[in-house]
Amino acid sequence: MYKHILFATDLTEDTEYLINKVRGMRGFTGGKLSIIHVVEPLPGYSYAYLGIEDIEGQLIEEARVSLEKLGQQLSVDKNDQWIEVGPTKSKILKIAEDVGADLIICGSHGRHGLSLLLGSTANAILHGAKCDVLTVRLPE
Ligand code: AMP
Repeated sequence: MYKHILFATDLTEDTEYLINKVRGMRGFTGGKLSIIHVVEPLPGYSYAYLGIEDIEGQLIEEARVSLEKLGQQLSVDKNDQWIEVGPTKSKILKIAEDVGADLIICGSHGRHGLSLLLGSTANAILHGAKCDVLTVRLPE
């Protein structure tokens, strides 16, 4: 069965729903669990426009705090909590390969595709992953 699950989370309210599915799969497989959140870099002009000097730094710090909380809820070691900065899809796929994940769990859609059958991140993970992918259907 699966030995290493990577849970990709956008850290939105959807995460609560996904947590139970992730717990269930982990319990069922007995596999190791890693979690990842990707912070997408903002275009340079946003800094001047918003008048905040280090938005990216703030976003990373907020994500770190949220991911740590999630890590506690799911008993994930700090070394297995990943915050990456860059394009979401490729970062998730890269970390999945780096840690040797054999299953990626993600939501079917998130902020980028509420009305879609499959969001763009989920779609890209499904197309690009070298391992199995579980896309959890989120309730409307
Ligand atoms: P989307 O395809 O962007 O609508 O999102 C589908 C799923 O991809 C979400 O439910 C998450 O599981 C995952 N996902 C989206 N954005 C991120 C992100 N920034 N970091 C990690 N996982 C994400």
